[in-house]
Amino acid sequence: VIKILTLRLRSTSKIVRAIVEQKSGAPVDSKKKVLKVLCYDTTSWVKENFEPKVKSFNEKRDDIELQMNYTQDRLNDKTARFAAGYEAVCLFVNDTADAESISVLSMCGVKLIVMRCAGFDRVDVKAAKTFGLSVARVPAYSPYAVAEHAIALLMSVNRRIPAASTRVKMSNFTLESSLLGMDIHGKSVGVMGTGKIGQILCRIITGFGANLLAYDVFESAEVKDMGGKYVSKEEIYKNCDVIFLMMPLLPSTTHIINSSVLPLLKKGVILINTSRGGLVDTSALVSGLQSGVIGGCGLDVYENEGDYFFQDWSGKPVVDNTLVSLLGNNRVVMTAHQAFFTSEAIDKIVSTTIENIDNYSSGLRGGNLPNSIW
Ligand code: NAD
Repeated sequence: VIKILTLRLRSTSKIVRAIVEQKSGAPVDSKKKVLKVLCYDTTSWVKENFEPKVKSFNEKRDDIELQMNYTQDRLNDKTARFAAGYEAVCLFVNDTADAESISVLSMCGVKLIVMRCAGFDRVDVKAAKTFGLSVARVPAYSPYAVAEHAIALLMSVNRRIPAASTRVKMSNFTLESSLLGMDIHGKSVGVMGTGKIGQILCRIITGFGANLLAYDVFESAEVKDMGGKYVSKEEIYKNCDVIFLMMPLLPSTTHIINSSVLPLLKKGVILINTSRGGLVDTSALVSGLQSGVIGGCGLDVYENEGDYFFQDWSGKPVVDNTLVSLLGNNRVVMTAHQAFFTSEAIDKIVSTTIENIDNYSSGLRGGNLPNSIW
């Protein structure tokens, strides 16, 4: 009987190994400890960029076999159970790691969350601590990518590039007043949030010869050296022809642009948001655009983007009426959370995420883990 059981056990472990090898695409060295990571919200760029880096990690390490599996599902309290048997999960900007999801992850045996982004506004830090999950992020990948995209949005809105390009492609080479823009040179440009991305943006703005006004809870010496002047929020609203939102989404910054701000704004201001959708009360934005108080708007983020972004909705009706009114407004230029999307930034996101996993694998936990969110 023992002989039969041993044989059965051997063949079962062979089958399990075969399944694991099939999933990871590489034979598993039995001397290696397997570290399984489930990557949520996987789109094509994620798998394409992680797979070669995981392969070279495994070639270098003789003690650990990193197995990264991928799901298109977003993390929430219902999909958290997919992580059963995984030691780590890899998340992105629209995954919801709230207390409920974290408690399910913890029950599934997950010990580590690696964010492949900088922002962690959808992670309940307190719950992660309570359930003993370490959380590491990519604090900076390319501030240039985001700052440059913010400028691209500004110039697209200001110089009506999408509309102009569509007209020219339809062989309409006329000019009319709907295409009229303004010089940024000499205008007052406000940057709200002068951290890593905000500072790069400030430097670009000074290149335009604009008057740089800044607002932040911490003043940056670099921004002052560039000639930037720190002022109150109200002065930004009153004086600026262009306002960039460059701060994180926090309870103190949620809906920082709301209906009570509209009467304070300089008429015709262009608003650019590449940070987080929740900074703007979108209904107030829509009414500001309709009244002409807001002259134009460039958005890479939207407060309810989780239902739509990173998915193809071209064959289905968009039922979010606020989103529909933004999409239908020719003063709005919108991209779907792609400001970070440059090859340099992706390279850094993937390599820092692997580094974070590597640090965890060498025993670092909680606040001792580099790039921890607490
Ligand atoms: P950062 O932490 O370096 O800078 C944020 C700045 O905001 C800091 O200077 C901070 O003092 C300031 N700030 C915080 N609370 C404030 C408040 N209440 N009022 C005014 N200022 C306040 O962050 P970063 O790397 O510059 O990134 C900024 C944001 O950009 C991130 O939080 C993230 O949400 C967003 N982001 C978006 C993309 C994208 O692809 N669209 C990519 C990366 C980052």
